[in-house]
Amino acid sequence: MKNSHYDLIVVGTGFASSFFLKKYLSKVKSDQKVLVLERGHFYPHAERLKVKKGEHSDFQKYEAPWEEAIVNMNTKKRWPFTTGYGGCSNCWWGCTPRFMPSDFKMKSLFGIGEDWPVDYDDLDPYYYEAEELMSISGPEGTPFPRKGKYPLPPHEFSIVDKILHKTYGNQYISQPTARASRAANGRNRCMTSSTCDICPVNAKFTLENANLGVYEDKRVELVYGAQVYSLEVQNDVVNKVLYQLDGKEYQASGEVVALGANPFFNTNILLNAGDKNPLTGRGFGEQLGMQVLIYLDGMKNVGGSTWVNANGYMLYDGAHRKDFAACLMEVNNAPYYIRMERGKWLNIASFRLLFEDLPLYNNYITTSANKLIPEVHFTERSSYTMKAIDNMKKTLPGILSCLPVEKLKYLEPFPNEGHIIGGTRMSKDPKLGVVDQHLIHHQYRNLFVLGAGGFTTFSASNPTLTLSALSLYAADQAF
Ligand SMILES: Cc1cc2nc3c(=O)[nH]c(=O)nc-3n(C[C@H](O)[C@H](O)[C@H](O)COP(=O)(O)OP(=O)(O)OC[C@H]3O[C@@H](n4cnc5c(N)ncnc54)[C@H](O)[C@@H]3O)c2cc1C
Repeated sequence: MKNSHYDLIVVGTGFASSFFLKKYLSKVKSDQKVLVLERGHFYPHAERLKVKKGEHSDFQKYEAPWEEAIVNMNTKKRWPFTTGYGGCSNCWWGCTPRFMPSDFKMKSLFGIGEDWPVDYDDLDPYYYEAEELMSISGPEGTPFPRKGKYPLPPHEFSIVDKILHKTYGNQYISQPTARASRAANGRNRCMTSSTCDICPVNAKFTLENANLGVYEDKRVELVYGAQVYSLEVQNDVVNKVLYQLDGKEYQASGEVVALGANPFFNTNILLNAGDKNPLTGRGFGEQLGMQVLIYLDGMKNVGGSTWVNANGYMLYDGAHRKDFAACLMEVNNAPYYIRMERGKWLNIASFRLLFEDLPLYNNYITTSANKLIPEVHFTERSSYTMKAIDNMKKTLPGILSCLPVEKLKYLEPFPNEGHIIGGTRMSKDPKLGVVDQHLIHHQYRNLFVLGAGGFTTFSASNPTLTLSALSLYAADQAF
């Protein structure tokens, strides 16, 4: 560390931290001192690609299996994540729809969960900003309110997409995505390789190719290998961040602290710091995803220009959310979904169905005997979600009746979606959550807890665009 005291200490270099820093640095003076503590290291995309191709890389030593970073009490449920510079931007798949306005008002509209202390209109300008910073490709008409064009044009539809778009209009759209539809800002055009975890042509947005400029800013000092595990708190003010580096103990002193680790580690840090809020760590989870294969009678499904070509909203919004969950359709265009039948290889479409879930108290994150490692207890899905699956099975054949469907085949639900949500949920009333509408801890007023941990309810949509917009919003409102 170069300084004995910092204006801001940020934990992590993923989406949540980086978008927060981007806004913060645009608002504060040139003499600010910012310390960023990152547990991992910089492992460049080019080196990851080499390893993916079976070649050696000296950077391979920085691969940190997620299974060793947490104690997972339910091994049937997986929680993959990547640590190191850029966090999960290195491994994500780049699906970036906005939430629907109703996602923020589940209690007042449907009597489910709680309303968020922010709503769609509050986040709208920050959605635009995040979409611009990630150069999102997307269509002009969307089911959520959005004016004008996305930064990049939409991806191309497949044959099945064209029929469904003609039938359902703005309820069936080209997916808004961070997989570029055109070469732009140093990224190539997506080649639909369906290996997005490490994109072979560097088409998806990552924090390495983002050109955000935050970690190059002269006000910012970035320390790698610094694993944060606690905070020193006096009279409800956070004074210091406690971390280990190369097995040694360190402390960093700061005016303001922003935790952008991920819900597991943010919770671990808070609990180790003595946070007694009974909701800290409680009510975390993610959407439930399952695949349906649509066998087509005499129709080849070709075309499309990216891995998830389209999003269908026909099972998403409406009065049914009083009784069962929203479902977002992700329309896959992966070459591995083919039919092993002569003459019918391409007579297939494949949808991933994402069902929202509820933040249940019995799903929780806590500390373990090792102060660096959180313990993760995920025991149940809500009946709200399971009812939505039953309803989907009844209604999907009718929804797809514009296609020549031979049969539908449902696969077992996936063990993960890669979306870790909740644990430090936002609320207006301090009794109902952990952070306020600006992601500031209700009790420790100089502490931001960033990321999807703050989501009050889960939504059926992928979380990262929204958590990035929330980071921009929080930093804009607070500084
Ligand atoms: C395979 C996969 C595919 C996905 N695809 C999508 C998608 O298509 N669309 C979508 O919306 N979402 C997707 N996600 C989810 C998305 O990646 C996350 O929502 C997003 O990365 C969360 O951002 P974050 O900044 O909060 O956390 P992260 O990206 O996890 O970043 C956390 C950062 O904190 C650091 N850190 C962690 N613990 C500590 C500590 N104790 N001390 C110091 N530093 C620490 C990490 O090294 C990292 O830099 C996917 C996830 C996975 C795993």
